[in-house]
Amino acid sequence: MTSTQSHRVAILGATGSIGTAAAQVVQHLRQVDTPGGWVLHGISGHGNLPLLAELAAAHEPPRIVLSDADCVDRWRSGAGEFTGVTFPAACRIDVGCDSLVDLASDPDVDIVVASIVGRAGLESSLAAIDAGKRVALANKETLVVAGGIVRERMKNSHAELIPVDSEHAAIFMCLIGRPAPRRIILTASGGPFRDWTTDQMRDATIEQAMTHPTWRMGRKITIDSATMMNKALEIIEATWLFGVPAETIDVVVHPQSIIHSMVETHDGSMIAQLSPPDMRLPIQHALTYPDCVIGMTPSLDLNKKIELSMMPVDRERFPAISLGFEVAAAGGTAGAVVNAANEEAVGLFLDGRIRFTDIVPACQRALANHNFEKSVTLDRLLELDRWARAEVRRWQA
Ligand code: NAD
Ligand code: MG
Repeated sequence: MTSTQSHRVAILGATGSIGTAAAQVVQHLRQVDTPGGWVLHGISGHGNLPLLAELAAAHEPPRIVLSDADCVDRWRSGAGEFTGVTFPAACRIDVGCDSLVDLASDPDVDIVVASIVGRAGLESSLAAIDAGKRVALANKETLVVAGGIVRERMKNSHAELIPVDSEHAAIFMCLIGRPAPRRIILTASGGPFRDWTTDQMRDATIEQAMTHPTWRMGRKITIDSATMMNKALEIIEATWLFGVPAETIDVVVHPQSIIHSMVETHDGSMIAQLSPPDMRLPIQHALTYPDCVIGMTPSLDLNKKIELSMMPVDRERFPAISLGFEVAAAGGTAGAVVNAANEEAVGLFLDGRIRFTDIVPACQRALANHNFEKSVTLDRLLELDRWARAEVRRWQA
């Protein structure tokens, strides 16, 4: 991508926490003096049609994808929840999951913001890679489920994969112009239960688990942060993204979420990226890299005392961390199975059907019970995804 051409963006999962922030960033880039112009070409949303309609009215993208066909049926039948929801007449509207793939590979799109949550984002991320787009990747599950396939497809494509996940964006920035590091250190806030005992966590309510100390995010990643499965997924994400073995990675708890991650060079320097916790910064970086333009994130206020503390992660209370390292070292089918078990278990917890402390054991059990294969096809991974979900539901019943 050269800096003077115009940038046509599609945001997949535009109604989510990352998606709405990405729409703000595109709007901001249209207003500041950046090389090339910025156009929001397409947006997608699943269940929240009123918010999608609001975004469509504000940005008037030429294309809209409504990925949940059942929801669209209810909308078209005039169901109460969607009364009065309309989209601008000039927008082309497509319905269903296949339309996500179509938008991700639209020749009129240069940059795809992959901000769907969970394994549901996989096919559209792969389509964007195959079509040679710049992919601003928030959907870490794409790499957790199918990192090997992503790396394979990247070899045969002109696509660029730029991380949006704040830790990986930080590492990406720290590595610019540097050789492979000795160590990559992922920071973790520790989530709402950082100082809780396992006994206390056993009785954690949905509301307590949903109260993240530093970030406001979607429901699934907020629960993942509380179990620290989010960090487990990020360890796996980092191995695929940076092509490093699991042993190169460390995790440290940093409650303030200001140091977003660090790298250690072979001669012993630690390089860190710091900024207030605001996802608009890594999103904008993924859109504009290698250019650097005025951002939306306010500067850190250095006239106030800032505490920056770091402490080791307690793997006994947070077994997700060891699980993350195990899966990252194994590769193959491990990521798809653990991701699916986690998605299913998080859903069951949010439905009030299992305890908070049942989530990680469900992932461990699925991993232990599956027939590991080192080299796999996409179909096999998707089959194992379905198997792991069914297993978790069966154990719960
Ligand atoms: P969210 O729940 O707020 O939004 C999810 C989006 O995906 C919504 O637009 C929703 O309509 C869409 N969606 C949901 N199910 C879908 C399906 N089956 N098919 C198609 N679309 C579907 O989630 P989020 O917090 O914005 O997270 C999105 C992704 O970004 C996740 O992979 C998450 O791990 C990652 N991420 C989020 C943050 C954050 O601060 N929120 C930070 C780092 C990484
Ligand atoms: Mg993160």
